[in-house]
Amino acid sequence: MTSRAAPPSQARSLMRLHDLDMLLRDYREDASRAVLEGTGFRVSGLEQLRRVREELAQTIEPRWLRVYERALQRHGRAVVPVMDRVCMGCFVTLPTSIPRPAEGSEEVLLCQSCGRFLYWL
Ligand SMILES: [Zn+2]
Repeated sequence: MTSRAAPPSQARSLMRLHDLDMLLRDYREDASRAVLEGTGFRVSGLEQLRRVREELAQTIEPRWLRVYERALQRHGRAVVPVMDRVCMGCFVTLPTSIPRPAEGSEEVLLCQSCGRFLYWL
């Protein structure tokens, strides 16, 4: 697997998508807990979130979405930070051939080792 950068507009959408997916997961856990405990849970917010998630997913190029969905399924998280050149998903050090993106850059890369999207801390 080679390291490829997602175009900036896609990168931003991917980050948002990941945030929504993490939120949806939290909600699902809250919802099942609410059912177990017999307390109420607001389902309407969840449906709205799902709809927004689907709309956002449609704005992402299918090839990036496929890479994203695969990483999410395999690892639970599809986007992880890089610290001191180390992928915080799989703890493999990135090759020095991969430069740190310029400050404020929206660029995201794929970890060659685990296939997660990376952003620099
Ligand atoms: Zn990795």
